[in-house]
Amino acid sequence: MKYFILFGPPGAGKGTQAAKMREKYSLHHISTGDLLRKEIAAGTELGKKAKSLIEAGNLVPDEVVIGMITNVFDNDKTSKGFLLDGFPRTEEQAVALDKILKDRNSEVTSVISLMIDDDEVVRRIKKRAEIENRADDADEATIRNRVKTYHEKTEPVINHYKSTGKYKEIDGSGDIEDVFTVLCGIIDKL
Ligand code: AMP
Repeated sequence: MKYFILFGPPGAGKGTQAAKMREKYSLHHISTGDLLRKEIAAGTELGKKAKSLIEAGNLVPDEVVIGMITNVFDNDKTSKGFLLDGFPRTEEQAVALDKILKDRNSEVTSVISLMIDDDEVVRRIKKRAEIENRADDADEATIRNRVKTYHEKTEPVINHYKSTGKYKEIDGSGDIEDVFTVLCGIIDKL
């Protein structure tokens, strides 16, 4: 069983590249952001709690997303591999994922980070706001807080994986097809 992680700041293109990877490699794509937005749309208790945190550009509690990921793994007995998009986002989530996978006699296969700078993040998210209707894309203060949260809480996760030799960075600022070609080059060598 393969477990890929697509890493990077908000707006780096994780969702876009993940959709292409899912297609090409028949992976089960798990976006914790998408799962949370579904909970919000369905008006569940979890969704109600997550909504204000997401709309302020903050992270939802670790145990919430860890529980969601565990559920998806437990309920999928057929996929050949998983592609995590937007998880793990904290050191605690990375540690929990290691344990979840160890309990399944497995481990993370590869972590690929899409690198773009902060100004590009803001520029891209503002552009996405014109196309998608995400509340957390709507105003600049929220976007800036998401960038800050990324640097403070999520970026340190890179160190968690660097020592394993499974961590790779690619330039995410190119066009979609060029980034995908580089991404596939890495996956095809694994
Ligand atoms: P995304 O669609 O990945 O940009 O996620 C949108 C928002 O959902 C984030 O800004 C967080 O508020 C929340 N979220 C998604 N994934 C996680 C996670 N792994 N841990 C905590 N919060 C998350």
